[in-house]
Amino acid sequence: MQKKYIPVALLFALLLVFFAHFGARMNAVPTFTYADEQKKVYLTFDDGPSTRVTSAVLDVLKQENVKATFFIVSDRVAGREGVLKRIAAEGHTLGVHSKTHVYSQIYASDKAFLADVEACEKVIREVAGVTPRVYRFPGGGCLGSARRSKLLAARGYRVVRWNAVCGDEEMKNASADALAEKAKETSRGKANVVLLLHDSAPHGATAEALPAIIGYFRGQGYEFCAY
Ligand SMILES: [Zn+2]
Repeated sequence: MQKKYIPVALLFALLLVFFAHFGARMNAVPTFTYADEQKKVYLTFDDGPSTRVTSAVLDVLKQENVKATFFIVSDRVAGREGVLKRIAAEGHTLGVHSKTHVYSQIYASDKAFLADVEACEKVIREVAGVTPRVYRFPGGGCLGSARRSKLLAARGYRVVRWNAVCGDEEMKNASADALAEKAKETSRGKANVVLLLHDSAPHGATAEALPAIIGYFRGQGYEFCAY
């Protein structure tokens, strides 16, 4: 190559590199993938406190350094004040689930409904020293829940439902393995999981399943959240 063509060749090469680089960038369509979204899981425990199961659940959460939300039945607090205090002291969220968990009483009227909410709120505030701001309907609360949700919102409550279960209510005497499996199955493909679990007395298997459930969500890249 003659010397005078060298700068031209260099310029040409430079232009090629420039277009190859920026041309490709211009054509690249930004893709949003499922993996880009921060996956979140809320572990929510209903129907406690119980002495043995709630304590076992708290032990696991502490060991795994995970925060959760507990929806309380306040008639079950007497004699277990220490358990309720421990939930709050260890950084978990306390929510209202009812005073009695007796549907016929809770949903008898709007007045009865609000009295039930207030009674539970009062126990949580007096025993644990926190004011609950989240609510879960006992039994799902399908009938009249839109109207009651408004009553709750007016009192500063956020209603929390669920979109995944571990099956500890649906499957009687299920093993810890079966519960962990159900939690995986019902949360699959969901970026935001609100998992329903129970920490009332008959649910020892739920506490037993908890390490596997936490391990699964951790392995899938979920962030653990509480309300
Ligand atoms: Zn319940």
